[in-house]
Amino acid sequence: MNYILSRNDIPKVLEMWSKTHQVFAPQKYSNFSAFLPYEGKAEQLCLEYPHNTRYPPKALFLPQSEELLSYTKDGQASEPALDAKPKLIFGIHACDTRAMTLLDTVFDAKDYQDPFWKARRESTAIITLGCDEPCSTCFCTTVEGGPFNRQGADIIMTDIGESFHLEALTPKGENLCKDLPYASAAEDRKVSNVQEKATSDMPKAFDTEGLKTALDANFDSSYWEEVQRSCLGCGVCTFLCPTCFCFDIADEAARSKRYRNWDTCMFSVYSREASGHNPRPSRKERTRQRLMHKYSYWVDQIGKIGCTGCGRCVRYCPVGLDIRAMLREAGKLPVEVIHA
Ligand code: SF4
Ligand code: SF4
Repeated sequence: MNYILSRNDIPKVLEMWSKTHQVFAPQKYSNFSAFLPYEGKAEQLCLEYPHNTRYPPKALFLPQSEELLSYTKDGQASEPALDAKPKLIFGIHACDTRAMTLLDTVFDAKDYQDPFWKARRESTAIITLGCDEPCSTCFCTTVEGGPFNRQGADIIMTDIGESFHLEALTPKGENLCKDLPYASAAEDRKVSNVQEKATSDMPKAFDTEGLKTALDANFDSSYWEEVQRSCLGCGVCTFLCPTCFCFDIADEAARSKRYRNWDTCMFSVYSREASGHNPRPSRKERTRQRLMHKYSYWVDQIGKIGCTGCGRCVRYCPVGLDIRAMLREAGKLPVEVIHA
């Protein structure tokens, strides 16, 4: 069913949802925006943020640092309680919602389920806010998504001016909307116009047809040497990426605890082996890994590109390395055709 949430009612409705859920919403924080617990400060909400929050909401499911285990000197180990408190993420963009579904294929796969990820995913409802004016660094439509993509959402929300139109997509979503008024036929019509316009206005950032073949065929190309020249190896592109999930597990003996911490393939220590050998010794191999993982290895593993086109790596790379330009050039690399 479709429902209406008037702008003026947002604080009241968030308060109502807060009684049963811990609500997270995009809010101002210092000079940027992030998904933070909603504490009744409606003036801090930034639903009209022109681009994605700087930090992706993946941290709500995969914290930057989390305890996995604590142990005693006599060999007793215990795991922390699973965090299954109902949560609600309000106003997340479609690319970030879709990123969760991509990460599900890593943390909730047939042969491996991460209990921490799974508990958080199952106890969380997601209200996606479609982007009626995607910003210039976004390219979701190029990579199998779209500004109103519904994958992973319990509700898809569309800004129709004086109010938001909410389409409930799952029983979780229906349950959240039960006290809201139904949308009229005229309001439903406005939605299709907004969604179609936003989607058709987005230009194609690069060609994905044949891109994987070109990347695979040019693993040893000098292209990687050229493309990494200005990279600082700072890791910003991966830490802020909603689909990057590298982590390291560290035992902190002084605290008798084991932690999982975000890590990044853009750091040289990430791939350094215990022997001292590093299979990715320079930024050339590490840059190649970043692009190949998203645009070739994910395709091998799950048949999908592992990038949602959120544009964070484009926006926040300190030296302006633009993944779209990198892939545009990679797509033009020669592919040797072998005739039988
Ligand atoms: S953000 Fe830019 S400079 Fe930093 S590691 Fe990524 S590509 Fe390199
Ligand atoms: S690679 Fe860049 S554009 Fe793609 S999902 Fe990650 S941060 Fe977003």
